[in-house]
Amino acid sequence: MRGLRFHSWVLIAAVLTSLAESTSTDTPGRWNLTHQPVRVVNGAPVLLRVTTPQPVRTLSGKWLGHEISFSFDAGQKAWFALAGASLETKPGAYPIELTAETASGKPLAYQQRIRLQRQRYPRAILKVPGRYTAPSAEELRQIEQDKGMKAQAFQTLSADREWKGSFARPVEAGISGVFGVQRVFNGTVQSTHQGLDFRVPPGTPVTAVNRGRIILARPLFFEGNCVVMDHGQGLLTLYLHLSKFLVKEGDAVEKGQPIALSGGTGRATGPHLHLAVRWQGVYLNPAGLLSLRLP
Ligand SMILES: [Zn+2]
Repeated sequence: MRGLRFHSWVLIAAVLTSLAESTSTDTPGRWNLTHQPVRVVNGAPVLLRVTTPQPVRTLSGKWLGHEISFSFDAGQKAWFALAGASLETKPGAYPIELTAETASGKPLAYQQRIRLQRQRYPRAILKVPGRYTAPSAEELRQIEQDKGMKAQAFQTLSADREWKGSFARPVEAGISGVFGVQRVFNGTVQSTHQGLDFRVPPGTPVTAVNRGRIILARPLFFEGNCVVMDHGQGLLTLYLHLSKFLVKEGDAVEKGQPIALSGGTGRATGPHLHLAVRWQGVYLNPAGLLSLRLP
């Protein structure tokens, strides 16, 4: 964590230097692409910041097979987008292709490589009630139904950026489970822990990590009582194992607004809050998102 902070300061210093350069020399024809954190790894979110050689009205990108839509921040005179690489992505230097259009309709293009480094994730052995590793026929039907419900919710996403500023923790509590751990349940079922667990007693208010819209608030078999928020541009946050909903599907929610009470419903080893971050179908490390400084 200390390393990450240090890197973001290095980045800020680099950005300030480049800002100073561009104002003093005023050279047109320069693209500038930087990212936070500086060390990009598999499973982690990354904030992209782009300045274009001349003013443009649209900017989009392509990276690792994802379409990335940027939004302009007038305060910083730069374009920003959140992106990320899946846990399975191999280390390497992956090209990002940027395309933009000026006010007069002139197309601009730019390409740069973003180096992805390998992050290793630990293993854990856990015990849960037997029905979560060997569900009955009826439970299997519910699991199938849940899949359909989630797929439907994931299709109704906002193309526009809804989030504003840095993401905030959903509860103030210690971490009881980190992202990316290879888990073995009851000695048989293997799965990857695709979220971040906060150690909270049942009944603790859970708040929205940023602005967005509630696209799912209902009980599911593995997730327990589950809330899914849409923050726009393909970014979702998920809150699992809740005891009580304080919002309903369709609600617009502000950052810090209570959305539920925590609990231990679904496949949970005990009461806790599981926070997950999903971007364009890929689960990303919530700790990485919470530590980004966003415009
Ligand atoms: Zn969890």
